[in-house]
Amino acid sequence: MIISNQNNILNSPIEYLKGVGPQRADLLKKELQIFTFKDLIEHFPFKHIDKTKITPILSITPQDDFVQVTGRIVKKEIIGEKRGRRLVAQLQDKSGGAIELVWFQGIPWVEKALIVGDVYRAYGKVSFFQYQAQISHPELEPANASQPEAKSFLEPVYSSTEKLKARGLGGRQLAQLTQSLFLMLSEKDFPENLPAYIIEKLNLIPRYQAICAIHFPPSQEMYQQAVNRFKFEEFFIAQLRLGLIRLERQRYSKGVVFSQVGDYFNTFYAKHLPFELTGAQKRVLKEIRKDVGSGAQMNRLLQGDVGSGKTIVALLAMLLAVDNQFQACMLAPTEILARQHFQGIKKLLGDLPLNARILTGATKTKERRKILESLANGEIQLLVGTHAIIEDTVQFKNLGLAIVDEQHRFGVAQRAKLWKKASIPPHMLVMTATPIPRTLAMTAYGDLDYSVMDELPPNRQPITTVHRQESARSQVMDFIKNEVQKGRQAYIIFPLIEESEKLDYENLMKGYENVKAYFPEPKYWISMVHGKQPLDIRETNMQRFKTNDTQIMVATTVIEVGVDVPNASVMVIESAEKFGLSQLHQLRGRVGRGAEKSYCILITGSKLSNEGSERMKIMCATNDGFKIAEKDLELRGPGDIEGTRQSGALNFKIASIANDREWLLLAQQIATRVLEKDPDLSQPIHQSLKTYLHTLKGRTAWSKIS
Ligand code: ADP
Ligand code: MG
Repeated sequence: MIISNQNNILNSPIEYLKGVGPQRADLLKKELQIFTFKDLIEHFPFKHIDKTKITPILSITPQDDFVQVTGRIVKKEIIGEKRGRRLVAQLQDKSGGAIELVWFQGIPWVEKALIVGDVYRAYGKVSFFQYQAQISHPELEPANASQPEAKSFLEPVYSSTEKLKARGLGGRQLAQLTQSLFLMLSEKDFPENLPAYIIEKLNLIPRYQAICAIHFPPSQEMYQQAVNRFKFEEFFIAQLRLGLIRLERQRYSKGVVFSQVGDYFNTFYAKHLPFELTGAQKRVLKEIRKDVGSGAQMNRLLQGDVGSGKTIVALLAMLLAVDNQFQACMLAPTEILARQHFQGIKKLLGDLPLNARILTGATKTKERRKILESLANGEIQLLVGTHAIIEDTVQFKNLGLAIVDEQHRFGVAQRAKLWKKASIPPHMLVMTATPIPRTLAMTAYGDLDYSVMDELPPNRQPITTVHRQESARSQVMDFIKNEVQKGRQAYIIFPLIEESEKLDYENLMKGYENVKAYFPEPKYWISMVHGKQPLDIRETNMQRFKTNDTQIMVATTVIEVGVDVPNASVMVIESAEKFGLSQLHQLRGRVGRGAEKSYCILITGSKLSNEGSERMKIMCATNDGFKIAEKDLELRGPGDIEGTRQSGALNFKIASIANDREWLLLAQQIATRVLEKDPDLSQPIHQSLKTYLHTLKGRTAWSKIS
């Protein structure tokens, strides 16, 4: 969203650009999604060739990528037969080195044009063949002694596709089209959108100058300045929009007020709390209490590492709702988790006289009818469940707080439905399963209020993580046996990327048989859990593991989130290279929940990609979910991080959430200050900004309802 939509000429269909026409336009649309002049301008070059830089041939090494050389053609010949037929010319420069220029196509034409003894400038990608540097199909132009050594500008290189190249729309032609388009445009087509005082303070170059320099920079420095300007602009505009949405919510979305801390909360806190809350838990509770007392609707994201103790915070918040005569509900993404939460909550509540129920897809019709009735008349105070809760038939008397656990499994539309369950929308607390890097959270969820629990309960033993190859599997099995004999339990996880994938399923079955061979019945018992099983069988197997009737759990990632079996001390992950970092971390979080020392063993084949082995290294090096999340972002980029794909806020052209942290923080700081001083952007100095924001297409729906 660099250029806004207000300008007519920029909205012209691309076929109207001279040199394009209907057929090429079709290809541009299909291949590069270039529909308008604006789209072409926004097709930024991915790099520039420095035409001022000439590399002496003798200094070229295999490490060089693209080079430009200049020298005399000393020889040319056509060699080879049929497909191997090629034109080879030798170019010698002042350094005394020689490079081969090779053509496989257009041989007669090039052969005729190439004059032995003349001086040329050649540019292209170097490769080495038997220690000889070569450029195939170089860009070549005569370089007469009378001409200046080289043109002094950076030539843009645009990405194109094979199809486009075949139709004469390669990178060079795109450059020509872009250049001719710029001739039709002027400063007024790219009005400045940033306030003058910000431009001045940050020493940014003006917008028009920047857009020109992104394509045709007069110098490397100028290019960098253009890049900087857009990094700031993109982050700043995004932060400003998020800030405006947040302000609007705070101003207009009225919330119910939990004005008092009552008996439920106080009694629970004094008599039922099984442990001292961590500092982070206390802080987050304070933040929540402030929100729910403010009169505006709370819309808060709670981030905390696996095991940081989000559940108890959620429960305390729900008690606060009940204390104020409101109902509260908590949604989990799966049946297993909902049930686990419910059991956990019941246990914590003990004899506290509070009507808590569970509602899931498995709830029997008769029971369900009863629950719906008591929800509607207000008898049920606290409801735990799955997405069954959000069905339209479920009506609350006065829902005051909705908590969504393990946020990324829940669609935005589903959350939106929760809003509508009460005349005044309930307070929302969204809890993430795994941490998201701060920069990502700022952009993807920047319109939400945001709490972090960056502290684990005390006395947690760090989990020891090791990486083993498949060839060491029998040692791993021996290790498990040893732990099981000590009374512990173990998980062995197989990847099932797509629950329907036959091959993965077969792997799981083979793995299961293999484990059985090491752990024969009746000495040992094994549970197996996967997505293809009927729900009741899955539940039974899960339950048997929880009650320690089975010692080993062979499973797919259906057990990924939240499952709590404190006696389990070993987590083995098969084909660990197939999992992403956050998933590995989440799986590892299934152990280390009790007092026993726990282990995570990552098993992979011997051949690993660089990224794969990087992931294993990080897992072995740290237990810190926030560090892992940062690394994940670095390795994979924001678009691949679970839960953020849908978020339009991440579509930056130049700025990168992974690499431009400083710019993002600066942009956020300044956006916050602008909105503090001028929340409506009504001051004259913010007029250009306001105009620009108005021209951007509609707000992204996700941000309003997260
Ligand atoms: P998560 O944040 O992953 O949802 P849970 O809420 O499941 O974490 O808590 C993990 C474990 O830590 C639970 O067994 C819980 O009882 C325990 N726990 C939570 N808070 C504390 C605390 N302040 N002190 C000791 N143990 C705690
Ligand atoms: Mg949890």
